[in-house]
Amino acid sequence: MKRIVASILTLQQHLDALAQQPVVYRPLACPKCAYGKLWCHGCYGRKADRHSPASASLNPIPIPRFLCQGCHRTCSRLPECLSPRRWYDWMMQQAVILLLLSGRSLRGCTRQCGLDRHTMRRWWQGLQARHQKFAYFLRARFPELGRAVDFADFWRQCLQAMALSQAMAWLDHEGVIVP
Ligand SMILES: [Zn+2]
Repeated sequence: MKRIVASILTLQQHLDALAQQPVVYRPLACPKCAYGKLWCHGCYGRKADRHSPASASLNPIPIPRFLCQGCHRTCSRLPECLSPRRWYDWMMQQAVILLLLSGRSLRGCTRQCGLDRHTMRRWWQGLQARHQKFAYFLRARFPELGRAVDFADFWRQCLQAMALSQAMAWLDHEGVIVP
């Protein structure tokens, strides 16, 4: 869907980039109709800072929106550190996936991360359901992942080679819906 702007890895980097070079967020073409003229259309706020104490919170984090001059629909662009369609960022999702790959139970993950078991199960099942498609595109770009023998092996190797956010930003760039 090309919603993710790669290489913006922290919320502070995102705020700085928005202030100093907002042009990096503007899509080259509308993700819905492919027309090449989009206007800035303000921002919406997202409560994305889940790590800072309340007194130092960066929330609300502005997420830039664009309006297509062809189809008049809007789209938004996220920094690489944030996940489309999920409340938790990629770093948190990666931590849970690595725990589950290492054989930890959902109950054990809850004890360690304090996250809801159902949320983590949804992430895990979601990754399994989309594995074939994700692996197909990632192997095309990172041939060394072609040696992985199964689901667990593939994601262990992938997350050793790169952050989950980087893998997902690449998939998004290829037009694959993530997560
Ligand atoms: Zn459009």
